[in-house]
Amino acid sequence: VHEVSRIYNIACIPGDGIGVDITNAAIQVLNKLSSTLKTFEFDFKTYDWSSKAYLERGWYMPPDGLAQLKTHDAIYFGAVGWPAVPDHISLWSLILPIRKALNQYVNVRPTRILQGTKSPLEGCQVGDLDWVIVRENSEGEYSGQGGTSHEGFENAVATEVAVFTQVGIERIMRFAFETARARPRRKLTLVTKSNAQRHGMVLWDKVFYEVAKEYEDVETDKMLVDAMTVRMVLHPKSLDTIVATNLHADILSDLAAALSGSIGIAPSSNLDPTRKFPSMFEPIHGSAPDIAGKGIANPVGAFWSAAEMVRWLGQEKGADVLMRAVENVTARGFKTRDLGGERNTKEVTDSVCEEIEKLV
Ligand code: ATP
Ligand code: MG
Repeated sequence: VHEVSRIYNIACIPGDGIGVDITNAAIQVLNKLSSTLKTFEFDFKTYDWSSKAYLERGWYMPPDGLAQLKTHDAIYFGAVGWPAVPDHISLWSLILPIRKALNQYVNVRPTRILQGTKSPLEGCQVGDLDWVIVRENSEGEYSGQGGTSHEGFENAVATEVAVFTQVGIERIMRFAFETARARPRRKLTLVTKSNAQRHGMVLWDKVFYEVAKEYEDVETDKMLVDAMTVRMVLHPKSLDTIVATNLHADILSDLAAALSGSIGIAPSSNLDPTRKFPSMFEPIHGSAPDIAGKGIANPVGAFWSAAEMVRWLGQEKGADVLMRAVENVTARGFKTRDLGGERNTKEVTDSVCEEIEKLV
């Protein structure tokens, strides 16, 4: 008889479109992981906070929604957004309030080429592209500050104010340096646009070099965001850990995912490093209305995000088993169409489950 040592309460927000398919796939795989390892269990509670629900009842999250989330050990998020609702409404009704209220000021986005998958970059092999993008997740361009003056459309003036604070920058830099230090190459690249944006971005540069003094064992360099896109494509091997603002890292991580094979494989972790509040795990892709309901979404980004959640909860072995299972499956060519394969969501999910059993 095995004793279950820990039950984790997980809030699940599947959201819209393929968010629902891949969240179900992630729950199936996480349940398989816990029933196979037998050292921990998950208690999932699903919240129907989607655009579909919004269109019916007029709200995404109830007034006590954030308080409900706070009672969980972690949050698993699918994807939110639907063509009938303007994107800024879904973003500002759900995901941004959660990130802000739960102190998730770090967004970690690892990318690498998985076994059996291919980069669109010629000659770029497994191991040649292995990055972690550390995204500032609480301020900057997504501060929500600004407004529109002049009523109506003619002659409208809109401002979108990027707010950067020394405290906000320093805490993301510390996290980025710690991340870089924990990886074999100990290399951190700062991305800004401090030539054209002479206030916030210059403060980013200053704080970076201040914090760098405490991490002499970490090699540093600095890129402007435009030049960075070129370097990612032409010299992927030259990069390791990358730190960038909310907007820049958002864009660079979509590029990173595409360069590693597909936007469908990349995970993200919205972390509260103080661990006062639950952290949130979600694939970087959106709800993909074009393939919703077809059962062909790639669940790998969802599995990788689930593995990051398991690791954050302290179950290193569980996370390693899950990732090895995923990579054994892709290595066998068991892939969805976006990766050049012929399998559907269910087939990939079932074989990851079988693989977990084999590995334990
Ligand atoms: P968001 O605004 O939420 O980031 P988006 O409009 O950027 O969403 P995504 O939903 O991320 O767009 O998807 C862009 C395209 O990539 C989709 O139309 C879809 O074809 C493809 N795609 C995204 N995720 C997956 C996936 N998991 N599996 C297969 N294809 C995907
Ligand atoms: Mg997107």
